[in-house]
Amino acid sequence: MLPRFFFVIFCLFEIVGIGLLNSGASATVQASQETRSQTEVILQLNADALPAGKYSYNFLAGYQSNGKPLYVPVVVIKGPEAGQRMLLTAAVHGDELNGIAVINALVKELGPEKLRGTIIAVPGLNQTGLVGNSRYYLRSEGGGSQRDLNRLFPGTLTEGGAASRYAGNLWHNLLKGNADIAVDLHTQSTGSDYPLFVFADFRNRKIAAMATALMPDMIKRDSGQKGSLETSFVTASIPAVTFEIGGAKRLQQALIDRAVMGIKNLMVAEGMLAGTVIKPLAAPYVGSSFANIYAEEGGTALMKVSLREAVKKGDLLAIMLDRFGVEKRRYFAPRDGRVVSVTTDPLKESGAMLVRLLY
Ligand SMILES: [Zn+2]
Repeated sequence: MLPRFFFVIFCLFEIVGIGLLNSGASATVQASQETRSQTEVILQLNADALPAGKYSYNFLAGYQSNGKPLYVPVVVIKGPEAGQRMLLTAAVHGDELNGIAVINALVKELGPEKLRGTIIAVPGLNQTGLVGNSRYYLRSEGGGSQRDLNRLFPGTLTEGGAASRYAGNLWHNLLKGNADIAVDLHTQSTGSDYPLFVFADFRNRKIAAMATALMPDMIKRDSGQKGSLETSFVTASIPAVTFEIGGAKRLQQALIDRAVMGIKNLMVAEGMLAGTVIKPLAAPYVGSSFANIYAEEGGTALMKVSLREAVKKGDLLAIMLDRFGVEKRRYFAPRDGRVVSVTTDPLKESGAMLVRLLY
């Protein structure tokens, strides 16, 4: 029986394919086959009102200019005992795919019977960005334009442009009301790489503990980014972190597996799963600041350092070649630190970031 506990104005069943098979010469229709994905469309989620179980929904987040709905996939796994509600979100930047694989793996593995509390998983927040192969929310207004959704939360409901309304609808009708803690999954932007890396506001001890439980390579103590999901949650007194998992437009299985393990470890720490909290042998490197090294001139950048590497002030970081392959400039570490991001796309214009140090 389908749940009727939502503030749902209407629900639909999305028809994903209709096949009619004809036997040919006899002209006798031998079979007709209609395939429906019975995924309920919801306008608002109230996970508290659901009985224990596992549910999949399409959240109606907005409409495109051709009138087609923008559905955001949602999975709820609710255990028989009350506990924390953990919200997991991925792909608010549409080119960042590792987090989608992390959520899908967790959803596949975890059943409600193993769980105390509720997982609310949203593996694909930015639907226009996913389709358009872009970090940004793609608007058709104004001849086409791009907005960074992760600078627009909590968004708006009845004012503002398409991206702000999309963010506001997600925030008010799907995300905020269903979270006691939140982990927003990202990667570094296209053309660069992160290790397993967490942004966390260490002024809140609960958030610091969440960051450590995820077992990343590195953590940045960070007071937040206005308009981001993480900071919007923290402002709403919901502990949250941004969890960076490698690079964009790839599925990096080793990092995905580690992120799954980290989130399960956080769930153990939160009393949502049975088990013992793992304390990794190597503590993560924790810093409070970035030193970004930018290209002064365009060309082909050769990286001379790797992710997680410890560097000293004056160490060689990168060499830039000109269009004839001739060395143009050398870039050195401006201070001691750890390499938290390197470029993976060697073609760099002036002003593009080559290396990011955490210290
Ligand atoms: Zn991102």
